[in-house]
Amino acid sequence: MAKTICLYVESKEKIDFKKISSFVEDYFGFASKVKKLKEAIVQTKGLLYDPVGSERLFENIKFKRSDIDILITDKLIATYEESDRRLHLRAAIFGFPSVTSTSCIVEAPAKPKEYYLAKQKYSLLKAWELKEKEVKQKFKDSFIDYHDPRLTEVLKGYIAQAIFFELVGNPFCGNKSCRLFNAHWQEDLIRAQIKSGKFCKRHSLELLKIKEGDCHERKS
Ligand SMILES: [Zn+2]
Repeated sequence: MAKTICLYVESKEKIDFKKISSFVEDYFGFASKVKKLKEAIVQTKGLLYDPVGSERLFENIKFKRSDIDILITDKLIATYEESDRRLHLRAAIFGFPSVTSTSCIVEAPAKPKEYYLAKQKYSLLKAWELKEKEVKQKFKDSFIDYHDPRLTEVLKGYIAQAIFFELVGNPFCGNKSCRLFNAHWQEDLIRAQIKSGKFCKRHSLELLKIKEGDCHERKS
């Protein structure tokens, strides 16, 4: 049997799940189910620290072992890094299940330095509220914002990373034009997920194997 991906959704962002399902089917050969959660599982108002380690967050969901489960939240999620003893926002945290956050897609990868400088300048002049729209318009090709129509396209990449994590243990690729690139900058995120929107050669081949692998599983 081909695997089924379950997407548990508590994000209020507009996401086109038909497009995401076609993507998962086309590239992995997997079916996908979408479950919109009436009650948010992630109950925190602030940062959600290491959600994957807190299995209790997910005890309301009955997971099926054969499925790949991914939670899509709009809460901020973060992991604690020993190296600098700080919390770091993460667009996705991979585990069982993996969690991806639409708010962290906006907040975690850094925006261009020029944007922060403009924001700082206008904030000092107490004019940020007046100028925010104009500045964001100027940088619109350089970062993903809240309610951004490109969110669906970006989510495809994080869902692909979560599936790769589950199947082969490594969600990332070093190729900046591959959907598995681990982007720390918004501009890199846009390059991998929007401008390229493809997988590198190596991962395209792996995807073919994943599809074939499922056929072998079915035969045995
Ligand atoms: Zn790749």
